[in-house]
Amino acid sequence: MQGNTHIVGGITASLAFAQISNDNPLLLVGAGIIGALLPDICHSGSKIGRKFPIISKMVNKLFGHRSFTHSLLFLILMVMVLHTLVPFKAISIGILLGMASHIFLDMWTKKGVKLFFPVSISVRFPLTTRTGSKVEKVVFMLLTLLSVYFSYELIVNLLGTL
Ligand SMILES: [Zn+2]
Repeated sequence: MQGNTHIVGGITASLAFAQISNDNPLLLVGAGIIGALLPDICHSGSKIGRKFPIISKMVNKLFGHRSFTHSLLFLILMVMVLHTLVPFKAISIGILLGMASHIFLDMWTKKGVKLFFPVSISVRFPLTTRTGSKVEKVVFMLLTLLSVYFSYELIVNLLGTL
């Protein structure tokens, strides 16, 4: 999936979580966007790969595309890293939600993801689409609508508590 689809996926996931938590929605969403871009560090042409070309090349050489950084193992390691380094729960949760949304979206592509890395099987849904396809554009639009709806709900709730 393309960077913009992942960004809006991360926003949707963190806004969905914001409905049921008391964490600061802005922190959740900001962190959600970062988390949503993080797994594609394995791909030097991605938004985050272009920002950190050296790290990106290293990760790609070591693991290849959509493997370690798209796996449950990486998610679990990030839970531990964030728990140790980040004092704000909303930021940690946002990053993890963004990452999870990224992996979930990539599972709708033909290539799938190496979800169980280091086991090298590719995991994908029975229906898949190509990156940049019309279907992806529709997904992008639906996620955007969902984000707008979640934002609306948050604002209504916020106004209700004033
Ligand atoms: Zn990816």
